[in-house]
Amino acid sequence: MQIVQMMVILLLKGGVKVSSILHLSNLLARKEISSVELTKKYLSAINNINPSINAYISVTEEMALLQAQKADDMRKQLKGDAPLLLGIPMALKDNLAVRGFKTTCCSKTLENFKSTYTATAVQKLFNNGAILLGKTNMDEFAMGSYSNTGIFGATFNPYDTAKSAGGSSGGSAAAVSSRIAPYTLGTDTGGSARQPASFCGVVGYKPTYGTVSRYGAVALASSFDQISPIASTVKDCAIVYDTIKGFDINDMTTIKQNYAPCLDKINGNVKGVKIGIATKLFENCSKDVVDSVYRAIETYRGLGAEIVDITIPTIELALPIYYIIGCAEISSNFGRYDGIRYGYKTNKSYKDIDDMISKTRSEAFGDDVKRRIMLGIYFLSKNNFNEYYLKAIQLRNELTSDFENVFKQCDLIISPTTPTAALSFDFNPDNVVDKYKADICVVIANVCGLPAISLPCGTDSNGLPVGMQLIGPKNSDSRVLNTAFAFENTANLKLNPTLGGVTYDI
Ligand code: GLN
Repeated sequence: MQIVQMMVILLLKGGVKVSSILHLSNLLARKEISSVELTKKYLSAINNINPSINAYISVTEEMALLQAQKADDMRKQLKGDAPLLLGIPMALKDNLAVRGFKTTCCSKTLENFKSTYTATAVQKLFNNGAILLGKTNMDEFAMGSYSNTGIFGATFNPYDTAKSAGGSSGGSAAAVSSRIAPYTLGTDTGGSARQPASFCGVVGYKPTYGTVSRYGAVALASSFDQISPIASTVKDCAIVYDTIKGFDINDMTTIKQNYAPCLDKINGNVKGVKIGIATKLFENCSKDVVDSVYRAIETYRGLGAEIVDITIPTIELALPIYYIIGCAEISSNFGRYDGIRYGYKTNKSYKDIDDMISKTRSEAFGDDVKRRIMLGIYFLSKNNFNEYYLKAIQLRNELTSDFENVFKQCDLIISPTTPTAALSFDFNPDNVVDKYKADICVVIANVCGLPAISLPCGTDSNGLPVGMQLIGPKNSDSRVLNTAFAFENTANLKLNPTLGGVTYDI
């Protein structure tokens, strides 16, 4: 009977290639592979594939093999079930601290900076037996959308290396997409996990603000920053999120509450779930993107979800609010890079301390970092504070309460993640504001502290992945993940990048 069932499953799945956490963890549990063997497979895949996409900026081979050996030993000694992440490799965006290893943020400022402690979220992964393969590429200090502003060069999209992998966590998304990491951690301050996930055909999950500690994540805009899993399936994101979430004494913005596992609540049932559509969020999107998301909406209707139209008059304010508060927080956070406390210091002669700081910062920061610091200082200056910063804070509160009201009419909101599929590197609008405009759908969740996920929902006419986004009210993480899973499970899209590392046929 069991053999018949297995054959039916194989026929149905038709040789699907996977490298999901769940599948790898089954292989490890059944002793079909050891963690050391699995880790070696990934290390060799990184060697083969990374030169074409530049997703990793450093590979921690020695550490990975040591951790893998430890995981194998631990599995032998374990009596009960092993943690799902035990012995499974992963990679980290290079703005997440690991004690004794470099955290460069892909900036000249921190090029030689070694962390003296490990980020809480990373430590939680290690405590559950995760294996670090290396650190991944990003935009300088996580500012950007194309992973092309860092000192290690751009990350290329595994579906088409002439295209960007998105950003700022482009390396993390491209590594998962090309199967040279089963999962990664990115950060999401204004879409940086979801947007590259969308460009690379993988799943990016930004949890409710305050449910994952930011301790050890290099601060960008602290009231928006959130460490976010990127993985090949929704359930994998849930597994990673379940592992890293929780109150942390080292991050006083983490919420003290009961954290029930989300994975247990994922059953794909969306009968009666109300999904809201705000047509504003579909404006300026390519036809391929709009069509793909609307097809997903029909899938939800078929699954018994109710589709409702919603309007949020203030929705367009999300972008200016994000950039004003974001730049203000950046200008304050980045005061620490003064050539004294951290990182790079000018080699030129200087006449006094101000001259030294000025030379250090002019030499070490890239254009976008400088632009945002200057804007932030402008918004916070005495003459502009009320007109810009204070107004943005007030509007942020208004927008947040507008969303609370909208969530009385619907359980979740669906939208495209990005206006187009992956863009070429020569995408260069005349003014920087047009570039920032592409972030409209993703920044909402950061401005209002909401959970949001991006998952693949189709491909455009060039075969590039298209992502859709689901946003839920605060603390509705399991609902967001379950609704995403319902689509993933039904649509069963078989996206395959042209480049591919470690996969298993099932
Ligand atoms: N594109 C966004 C920005 O440049 C991404 C920021 C982020 O999430 N780290 O601000």
